[in-house]
Amino acid sequence: MSPDKPNIVVVIVDCARVVDFPPASKRPETTPYLTDLEKESVTFVNAFSTSNWTLPAHASILTGLYPWQHGVHGKAQTSLRAHRTVFDELRSLGYRAALLSANPHIDEGSGMTAGADFACHGTWPELYLRSRSLSRFFRLPATESGSRTDQPDEMYSILDGFLRRHGGRFTAMFPRCWDGALRVLSKVSRENFELSSEVSPWIEDTLSSWIARQADGDPIIAFVNLMDCHEPYLLRSPKKSSLRDWWELGRANQDHVSWLVEGWSPGPDDVQRLHALYLGSLAHVDQRIRRITQILEKHNRWENTLFIVTGDHGQQLGEDGVLFHGFRDSESLTRVPLIVRLPGRRLRGRVVQNSASIIDIYPTALELAGGESNRSLPGVSLIELVSRARDSPVFSLSDGVPWNRWPYLNPDRKEYLDQFSISCHARHGRFTKNIKTGKMQVHPTGSELGALRIGDNPIEVGAETLSMMDTICSQLRTIQRGPNQAEPADHLSGWGY
Ligand SMILES: [Zn+2]
Repeated sequence: MSPDKPNIVVVIVDCARVVDFPPASKRPETTPYLTDLEKESVTFVNAFSTSNWTLPAHASILTGLYPWQHGVHGKAQTSLRAHRTVFDELRSLGYRAALLSANPHIDEGSGMTAGADFACHGTWPELYLRSRSLSRFFRLPATESGSRTDQPDEMYSILDGFLRRHGGRFTAMFPRCWDGALRVLSKVSRENFELSSEVSPWIEDTLSSWIARQADGDPIIAFVNLMDCHEPYLLRSPKKSSLRDWWELGRANQDHVSWLVEGWSPGPDDVQRLHALYLGSLAHVDQRIRRITQILEKHNRWENTLFIVTGDHGQQLGEDGVLFHGFRDSESLTRVPLIVRLPGRRLRGRVVQNSASIIDIYPTALELAGGESNRSLPGVSLIELVSRARDSPVFSLSDGVPWNRWPYLNPDRKEYLDQFSISCHARHGRFTKNIKTGKMQVHPTGSELGALRIGDNPIEVGAETLSMMDTICSQLRTIQRGPNQAEPADHLSGWGY
């Protein structure tokens, strides 16, 4: 393998709460592997996503562009078209590219898999049915490039339809019942129903067999999305915790729909239970990331690998009075972990205060792959950011309620949730501009996250930045709904409701 072309592996943890990841986490015992990994990596403590939900953020990671540049967001379109991705770029430099996503949004329909040589994505039932045997029964995942959902078999379509209509809400309100039912089924069927704690448990094996199929001399680029930290949170094995804890956590209500329409608002006990469930899921993600690095070691690729762990967005568990993600602008949604282990553990242990964004992953990959820097990209190489602050601040978009005809929301609730704004992440805080009204607000750093005060962001907001925000807002105001926009009901069912 050419020493000039390192492998590049990016793990995107869906719903990554920065306060629960190192170095901010107050419970490092939840993430022992990430805590060790951080010591041999560069950690960016002021890193931001470009969005508060999955699709725009993944499109930004793949294209190195902001949502108003690549056009994938709730006020425009849901499919990435006519943009060169980091996969296209690196394949032209001799790389082999794979995209493995537990999140079903990252599929052919969203255009995210187009540049990869090999792509697999999860399906919605996998959020509820965490069984290796069922994955195999439904022939998950595909073994060739392309999606298995191109031609779903009949049984799978029936199950998918049932869970979309009934499964999501039921598991969200009664996780104990769902978990119990799965355990009984597992016991009754013995080895025929192999229960797994993980969403899309096929990811590691599929990655390993894909790497094994590549020639030794070919560098690889692989993006992996892990969805365990996404709601609904199923309970974890009572073997590891007491039956009493399991029973107690089973009272957690995660009913997104009731929260949206104000039929239910979570109290402090609900939030505490949800957080405990989240941490249980994060502990599994920590183990899965360890397994991914072990796979790279096994294939003798680990030392010469740029390995990045980040999030597509955060997850709110009561911060700012909000649950889960999407809709509104918030620091707890746009701030993400960013741990960058460079080949040969270069610059290990460095903690960088300069602000960074998920759009910086593309130029970093390009630089390490030996490509010519692309000046039309707004991002900066993360290696450059270790020693020098960027020239312009980083931004993120809140696209509010993506579909205007949301059937469940009353007008007041819709008004509150439909926050269409851009944020500029600047020194001591965040400047938010409402795109419809032009109203500007300032939020001090850490005001919503309370405990999170890692460092100051050394960027001032000057006249140039304000005029840049004006330009972005005018551009977004004129955006029309794209022709391939999913209907609201489809979107809701896509979330399992
Ligand atoms: Zn996501």
